Amino acid sequence: MGKKEERPYPETELYRIRHSAAHVMAQAVMEMFPGEAKLAIGPPIEEGFYYDFALPRPLTPEDLETIEARMREIIGGDFRFEKQVLSADEARQLFQDQPYKLELIDGLEAGGLDEYGEPIAEKPEISIYTQDAFTDLCRGPHVEHTAQINPDALKLTSVAGAYWRGDEHRDMLQRIYGTAWKTGEELEQYLWRQEQAKLRDHRRLGRELDLFSVSEDVGPGLILWHPKGGMIRKLAEDFSRAEHEQGGYEFVYTPHIGKSSLWQTSGHLEWFAEYMYPPIELDEQQYYLKPMNCPFHIQIYKSQTRSYRDLPLRYAEWGTVYRYERSGVLHGLLRVRGLTQDDAHLFCRPDQMPEEIDKVLEFSLNILRAFGFDEIHAYLSTRNPEKAAGAPEQWEAPTRALQASLERSGLPYQIDEGEATFYGPKIDLKVEDALGREWQLSTIQFDFLLPERFGLSFVGEDGQEHQPYMIHRALMGAMERFFGTLIEHHAGAFPVWLSPVQATLIPIADRHLEYAADVAERLREAGLRVEVDERSDRMSAKIRDAQLQKVPYMLVVGDREVEAGRVSVRLRSEEDLGSMSVDSFLERASQDIQAKH
Ligand SMILES: [Zn+2]
Ligand SMILES: [Zn+2]
Repeated sequence: MGKKEERPYPETELYRIRHSAAHVMAQAVMEMFPGEAKLAIGPPIEEGFYYDFALPRPLTPEDLETIEARMREIIGGDFRFEKQVLSADEARQLFQDQPYKLELIDGLEAGGLDEYGEPIAEKPEISIYTQDAFTDLCRGPHVEHTAQINPDALKLTSVAGAYWRGDEHRDMLQRIYGTAWKTGEELEQYLWRQEQAKLRDHRRLGRELDLFSVSEDVGPGLILWHPKGGMIRKLAEDFSRAEHEQGGYEFVYTPHIGKSSLWQTSGHLEWFAEYMYPPIELDEQQYYLKPMNCPFHIQIYKSQTRSYRDLPLRYAEWGTVYRYERSGVLHGLLRVRGLTQDDAHLFCRPDQMPEEIDKVLEFSLNILRAFGFDEIHAYLSTRNPEKAAGAPEQWEAPTRALQASLERSGLPYQIDEGEATFYGPKIDLKVEDALGREWQLSTIQFDFLLPERFGLSFVGEDGQEHQPYMIHRALMGAMERFFGTLIEHHAGAFPVWLSPVQATLIPIADRHLEYAADVAERLREAGLRVEVDERSDRMSAKIRDAQLQKVPYMLVVGDREVEAGRVSVRLRSEEDLGSMSVDSFLERASQDIQAKH
């Protein structure tokens, strides 16, 4: 579950450029606060680099400009990055005024930690790199000369607070983020993507469109769905439930808490305990809030003897689960502490398994596509010989079936060798959003462990007891995370079928209010979600507001429309469809809704 910021592959040129830029930035900051700046760490990250400092005062945006300008001078000086290997004591001597470096040197000397304090297998040598008059504790690699950093492809982007070693009990430092690319054009594209990402940020849109909130009084990571967000969730659930019914799923409902013995058997208290809330004591028993729904569905399976004729069984539940995530990693709808999964558990006979996989994959793709996710990438995680439940032979058929099913689906897929969890192989589906970012949504996960732990069986044609295959399947995943992804993908301009308000009537003057109300009534009767903007603002202001609210259709009505019994239709894309009869508009809208546009 823990997701770390990925470190780019060290041998790439961009990695060297960014790593080197971090050193140049540290030099500029040291010069700005001579004798006062304390250096922590400065690694390259996925699309740039950062460096953490303890400084005598908070940095301002003007400081960043000054630092950036000084960086360009240093780059222009074309200084060599000189490496030198030294002993721990020599390093301590050199960094005697740098307490964070001294701590890092201790870690390097003891082994097991690298120069960023991150765990590593080997015991590293201690080395420093010097450019111009600046020396840093570092293993490299770097570019050879500062001039190999393109000054036109470099930018410092922000300052944020960061705890030393990510530990909230230790010093709060200032982290300067920067980015560096090979060309100015790459930098421009990156900045554009960042700008777009900001505009699409689901936390911001969640506020602006009044979709959801988090209340400090309720608690961090616990989402409150407002009426408009709630409408979208209801529509998504209604659609998905209808599809599930068609797809041969049965709906079950299970409680939010269960006895500790259940979680003992399921193994959650062994391997998932850090994500579980502390137990509730009741009648001398301990009850836990459920972190997953699986053990409950298993109890339903076990409530009677199952015959081979009963299978497959497909239990679906929008199950709300609670997982403890550290407050530092909570992020809007994407990392939360209470979440509702569109969860399902499939129980089938070995001979049904390939068809079941095909079905569940096709089912998942159809649903994801209905929400406008057209770019879907699949990842197949295979057995990790180091940690795997069951015998290797057990893994073969399911892994083959998963791969064969991916082949048939025509999806682009990648095999993550040895990346499976210990209880079985799985397919992850990730959607690519409008900015090319990947979001993990669906998982189709085999499980060899739980059927065994809970002693699941069915009576076969031979009259003997057999173990069924069990597949966990979450499609949207968590509704919260899915919603966050949906908001960012569509930038809040949801497809018409999902828009909480589909049309806003905009009367030009008060005398058009009555006609607007009549039209709204007709549209509502036809099943549209409609609002009338009754404020006596100017028409242009009302249009702007409806546009900001990303309402798909704006229906302007004035004297001409009243007289002709028509509406003037504008789209949120600013396209003007002109005047049309209410019936024509309804036809157009229902076509868009049908097509899930
Ligand atoms: Zn370095
Ligand atoms: Zn499950």
